[in-house]
Amino acid sequence: MQNFDDLSAEFAFATQAIRAGHRRTAENEHNEPIFTTSSFVFSSAAEAAARFAEETGEHNIYSRFTNPTVRTFEQRLACLEGGEAAVATASGMAAILATCLAFLSQGDEVICSRSVFGSTASLFSKFVSKWGIQTHFVDLQDLSAWQAAMTPRTRLLFVETPSNPLCELANLQALSQLARAHACKLVVDNCFCTPALQRPLSLGADIVVHSATKYLDGQGRALGGAVVGNAQDMAQVFNVVRTCGPCMSPFNAWVFLKGLETLELRMRAHSANALALATWLSEQPKVEKVHYAGLASHPQHALAKAQMHGGFGGVLSFVVRGGREAAWSVIDQTQMLSITGNLGDVKTTITHPATTTHGKLTPEQRAQVGIEDGLIRIAVGLEALADIQADLAVSL
Ligand SMILES: *Cc1c(COP(=O)(O)O)cnc(C)c1O
Repeated sequence: MQNFDDLSAEFAFATQAIRAGHRRTAENEHNEPIFTTSSFVFSSAAEAAARFAEETGEHNIYSRFTNPTVRTFEQRLACLEGGEAAVATASGMAAILATCLAFLSQGDEVICSRSVFGSTASLFSKFVSKWGIQTHFVDLQDLSAWQAAMTPRTRLLFVETPSNPLCELANLQALSQLARAHACKLVVDNCFCTPALQRPLSLGADIVVHSATKYLDGQGRALGGAVVGNAQDMAQVFNVVRTCGPCMSPFNAWVFLKGLETLELRMRAHSANALALATWLSEQPKVEKVHYAGLASHPQHALAKAQMHGGFGGVLSFVVRGGREAAWSVIDQTQMLSITGNLGDVKTTITHPATTTHGKLTPEQRAQVGIEDGLIRIAVGLEALADIQADLAVSL
């Protein structure tokens, strides 16, 4: 019987998502086992010495270094992203931190899109900056701004596309050409799309980072993250995680393995629900505009079709007439939707960015990044579309 511990390149995405990375043990288990052990034993002192001398993580020594369940998740995700290797981490933020530790040194510079996840922006501006590494924040759509921010010290370009909550896109092929021309690495946070909808490495990115907490799990159960890329880069990230310790727990890796099995089905269903909801919202008289890359009216719809496939994701936002008061009223009149900033879950969530995720910005800063007071973000889940619509229709 075939084992799937290679990267299973000859199989389709849906098959890889279910099978890749599983190396059966002597017990011939059908489902992936959870190895809840902190360490592994050796047959002799000489073997222990030989294993500790290895840098590759080929053999298990200690679960901060490698663990079979975690490795199965890493191989499966690497396979889905089309990367040579992956390194699992304790959270999405740990994945981004490990990437910084692996590739940045004092005096280096980073260019980051302005609309990244809040903690990512803080990581660069408050913590990475302490090591003498400066980050320039630019508009993700404005290629000339990326070019203008380039200096001989730039090492890393960091981007999230589509952006949260305005669904603006970065052109990944253009950014990867820019990165290559300046010998930098392009790092893409692919949390919103997952490899089911977008594969940044195939568009020229060097590294993909994930918060597995979101769609890879898909059911809001566990925190985790991952870094994916070529074998050489991942060896560096592996050494950071192995030494510094932000590793993934075997139980969480198993939860994410179960999540990956349904990833393609879920992402298509999230995308279908989101597109239908975006279309319906754009017909409501109280709605001023809808931000969703799947709408033909989206200014970057052509780019979205070119670099995404199988759908446009589950996150959309829209502006209601009447500012903050109207937006809060829409949110407060929902009965089923969860009022929370979380996303990537089968349960639909609704949030008011101006007073939550972007609440610490000044009104001028919010205006600059396009976060209007009437803006509402929805991470569309997998409940029946009619029920999601009915919940919003009360106030709209
Ligand atoms: C949630 C999120 C992160 C951080 O992930 P955690 O698992 O919460 O640490 C990073 N990037 C994006 C786009 C996210 O949505």
